[in-house]
Amino acid sequence: MNELKKNMVFTSDVVDLTHEGQGVVKIGGFPLFVENALPGEQIEVRVTKVGKNFGFGRLERLIKQSPFRMNEINLDYLRTGIADFGHLQYEQQLEYKQKQVVELLHKTAHKENFPVEPILPAEQTKAYRNKAQVPVREINGQIETGFYRKNSHQLVPISDFYIQDPIIDNLVNTIRDGLRAFGQASKIAYNEQTRKGWLRNLVIRRAYHSHEIMLVFVVTNAKFPFPQKEFLAELIEKFPELKSIQLNINKTDGSFILGKKYVTIYGSDTIKDTMLGKTYEISAPSFYQVNTSQAEKLYQTAYEFAELKQEDTIIDAYSGIGTIGLSVADQVARVYGMEVIPAAVTNAIRNADLNHFNNVKYEVGAAEEIMPQWLEDGIKPDVIFVDPPRKGLDERFIETATKVGARSVIYISCNPATFARDVIRFEQNGYQLERVRPVDLFPQTHHIELVGKFTNVEKNNIM
Ligand code: SAH
Repeated sequence: MNELKKNMVFTSDVVDLTHEGQGVVKIGGFPLFVENALPGEQIEVRVTKVGKNFGFGRLERLIKQSPFRMNEINLDYLRTGIADFGHLQYEQQLEYKQKQVVELLHKTAHKENFPVEPILPAEQTKAYRNKAQVPVREINGQIETGFYRKNSHQLVPISDFYIQDPIIDNLVNTIRDGLRAFGQASKIAYNEQTRKGWLRNLVIRRAYHSHEIMLVFVVTNAKFPFPQKEFLAELIEKFPELKSIQLNINKTDGSFILGKKYVTIYGSDTIKDTMLGKTYEISAPSFYQVNTSQAEKLYQTAYEFAELKQEDTIIDAYSGIGTIGLSVADQVARVYGMEVIPAAVTNAIRNADLNHFNNVKYEVGAAEEIMPQWLEDGIKPDVIFVDPPRKGLDERFIETATKVGARSVIYISCNPATFARDVIRFEQNGYQLERVRPVDLFPQTHHIELVGKFTNVEKNNIM
């Protein structure tokens, strides 16, 4: 039985860091997770919650400080999770992420000391995000924009979002100030308890290379509760890069940010950007990597792993707006892509046209349903690129993708835990893990991105 009780205070050494950046202390062997505590530090910790196998504590006093601590970070960023690694020097963040990948491959995929190639660091470690999703709420009668406290729906007002393009911050703050001037905060800002109010979130994208801006007001209905004409005109004058303003109608009471319906109220339905020299149209519901310059390095790592040949047929699975396949469509014979969001596939088809490719084909649907069809249709890819969401690959997808005879599968993962799980499945199906390289797409946060290469054992005679 564990004797720990809420509010007890201990002095203890921080022995580890959780994958979300909390320090770990052990009180009589029982682990407590403590925000803003780093390995190598000695702290006074107050127990705040005791569970069955672990608990939580609050840092009361820093007795001995880690030499790797970054003191200048605003603690709100840690509390909100915007920058949950921001109190750690960048070099150490990289080291930690590298170690995390090695450990997951060991623990989950049973690969001891797999030679993970060194993580590719970012040059720009702040102000890199090209996208923001910002809740709009009323606090003490005033409209506020900011970020939710971690694991809660309590807004912490913030004006400088630290890892976001500062022009996006500027637009958020300008909108907030403009809305405040109307008064009537409770009519304008959405309230999650009463479900009253109009504006739930601002979703903003500013393209990294072209600088075009898309602004989406996520609202409960299409009718502005204030005279919108002048308000929008002023925004467009102040931010001439605004190329698209849309409403997203979300009447639900759930915590999903976006509803299904979009209405364009100014400019175009899409914005354009370039990646690796190709042009892309992006619509609001489509996925687009949030750190463009690092995503370019990520893709280049994937191509380096793939060793493409001009006669190759490739599959771009989970293709989004088509960036992975289209970046190399001129270096291979054919590209097939599939993606579940119809708007993204519309973008991908248009993007093939914009870049003058006619060797590309896309289908709308779930990868795990389309891949078996393609196997049946006799499509013979040489290389398959996969870039799934955090939950990783569906078993059905792996089973069929490993049957079409590709010489390699290049796996881009935003979650090393599900990647490590999928390593086992690929190896059971005749593909061997050959290379892994993390790429830091998310400086100051715990998020890890990596590229893995699986080789067809039979085709490459590795056995
Ligand atoms: N490769 C793209 C997108 C990667 S994000 C890029 O680099 O920008 C993952 C994509 O997978 C998203 O566009 C998402 O809509 C899509 N997706 C999610 N589940 C899917 C599934 N089961 N089948 C196909 N696509 C899926």
